[in-house]
Amino acid sequence: MRNCAQGRIHLVMGELATRTDLAVIGGGPGGYTAAIRAAQLGLDVMLIEKGHIGGCCTNVGCIPAKALIHMAGRKHDAESGKAKEMGINATILFDFKKAQEWKAGVVKDLRDGIATLCKLNGVEVMKGKAFFTSSKTLSVETESGLRTVEFGKAVIASGTSINGLENLPFDHERIIDSDDIFELESLPASMVIVGGGYIAVEMAALFAKLGTKVSIVYRGDRLLRNMEPELGSAALRGLASIGIDILFKSEVARVEGNQAVVMTDGVERRLLFDRMLVAAGRTPHFEALGLEKTGVKLDASGLIAVDSAMKTNDTNIYAVGDAVSGPQLAHKAFRQGKVAAEAAAGLKSAFDNVAIPMVVFAEPELAAVGMTEEEAKKQGYGIIIGKFPFSASGKARTMAKTEGFVKIIADSAGGLVLGVHIAGAEAGTLIAEAALAIEMGAQLEDLAATIHAHPTMPESVMEAAEDALGRGIHMYRKRAKGTGR
Ligand code: NDP
Repeated sequence: MRNCAQGRIHLVMGELATRTDLAVIGGGPGGYTAAIRAAQLGLDVMLIEKGHIGGCCTNVGCIPAKALIHMAGRKHDAESGKAKEMGINATILFDFKKAQEWKAGVVKDLRDGIATLCKLNGVEVMKGKAFFTSSKTLSVETESGLRTVEFGKAVIASGTSINGLENLPFDHERIIDSDDIFELESLPASMVIVGGGYIAVEMAALFAKLGTKVSIVYRGDRLLRNMEPELGSAALRGLASIGIDILFKSEVARVEGNQAVVMTDGVERRLLFDRMLVAAGRTPHFEALGLEKTGVKLDASGLIAVDSAMKTNDTNIYAVGDAVSGPQLAHKAFRQGKVAAEAAAGLKSAFDNVAIPMVVFAEPELAAVGMTEEEAKKQGYGIIIGKFPFSASGKARTMAKTEGFVKIIADSAGGLVLGVHIAGAEAGTLIAEAALAIEMGAQLEDLAATIHAHPTMPESVMEAAEDALGRGIHMYRKRAKGTGR
């Protein structure tokens, strides 16, 4: 192996054995980041991945989804009444197969980019399925047979797999999962989507914008139930505005041919569909990892227990990303991968982030970081709230994207920013400033007094902070004369 004082290959019990400072299991966001960061720090690193490098996010998750969502948004905007008001009368000739090919190119470029980065940093990538045989050794099933990897430290970044529903088994033709979306060769005329989380709302918006008749069947009564309720309401309005039917408190009892039999409060209804997408979450599975051969322990929720340095109960082994508690988000895994690598290299490093932003690329785009109103109150804060509607934003007007708002929640004593929740254009970009504010312990005054370029969408974050302070300029609120509030 390259860059490796200790690196050597030898025979263990007839198997080819390789020695490495750091073995990383899983080549997704947490795994490849840990591998590259550890190599930067001078460790000899082996990254073991059974599928494509880049993991779910690059290959069948964030990247292909966002490519298609962006494409659908461009098409939808060009066809919209707003475009006509601007004098654009477009006839769109849309080719779904071509769009899938373009998306596949984006995925390939990024996957190849990650492979190149691994190579340039001296990370050795082994293709195969790894399992622990002790706290110091892994076996890897490769195409050329079983390989043994002796490691100094290891990082588990094994990700998740898709949850199925017993009464709606995937046949990957009519009843499909999110991976199948990226293989579709033609645009479905109609689609039933089961679930009310990230994938359900993103895929609903994507296909509705392309012209598919979409129905969401959700067992709950509020989309995206872990987000601030106003964001769920914005999603409800936005999805309805592009023609999506949403059936709350409903379940697909069974499928009969091309009909979904849906029960809502005991009432049966039948929905015709070409494809049914089941988006009922993802779960990590550790059964095949051989953890019983190590000191790694699971926590009460069945995830790998780690300390702030991402170290498990086994001093040689770290775990990151979806394998440990917290939201199943690539950017959380990126950060934890860096922490694990630095800790494994002997540096003092901790995953002590205050907040993890989340973005839902639906209609409208939604983003949040920090506490919801309810969480802030539960934690005993007295709160003040500021809000700025995009209808009052110069930039939003110039883009004809006036639906949406920024809502900011702060501690009434001192103005510490506790949470920011955004619906509408560029929400996913705007949330970065809010994440930095919360991470840095910023107060409303910091956001309000920072000069934001005009006309831009980030001004809305400043305006929301000013509103919370009672001194918004571009939005009128009645106040006692001369008080400034
Ligand atoms: P989510 O956890 O977001 O949503 C799962 C949905 O499935 C929930 O609405 C849940 O209902 C419903 N559900 C769960 N079990 C059942 C069941 N037995 N019957 C009916 N409905 C059920 O998962 P997704 O599959 O949407 O996405 C997987 C993960 O991928 C997400 O957790 C997210 O972390 C990540 N992701 C992130 C994206 C982003 O960052 N933009 C985009 C896409 C995915 P209930 O609410 O009642 O529990």
